[in-house]
Amino acid sequence: MACLFCRIIEGEIPSKKVYEDEYVYAFYDIAPMAPVHVLLIPKLHLDSADAVTAENSGYVAKIFEAIPAVAKACGLENGYRVITNCGEDGCQSVHHLHFHLLGGKKLPETLG
Ligand code: AMP
Repeated sequence: MACLFCRIIEGEIPSKKVYEDEYVYAFYDIAPMAPVHVLLIPKLHLDSADAVTAENSGYVAKIFEAIPAVAKACGLENGYRVITNCGEDGCQSVHHLHFHLLGGKKLPETLG
């Protein structure tokens, strides 16, 4: 069976879409950790940041090209944070590369 985020891209599982183009899908996180919490994912399935190569890094570039517009559309005029969790020690829970876009308040400086 396709992974959770591949199924979200296909529309098999509902999501609150924020942005979409040929390479990128962005939607609100179901369990927000900040007033604004959006996930940006590549439409190509990659397990994590550890799977990024010279052949597929264009998808990552497209995500970062989309981030300023998505941030602006979400009202993050005063800044934001972009995070990707990778693997066991990174506490990655969904194994489809994704970038958390967080903001809407002053975020804590450290991981704690
Ligand atoms: P990570 O722990 O970095 O792998 O992040 C996975 C993120 O996916 C978490 O913040 C979850 O809240 C979020 N998530 C899981 N299922 C869904 C879903 N169906 N729709 C939106 N966000 C989801």
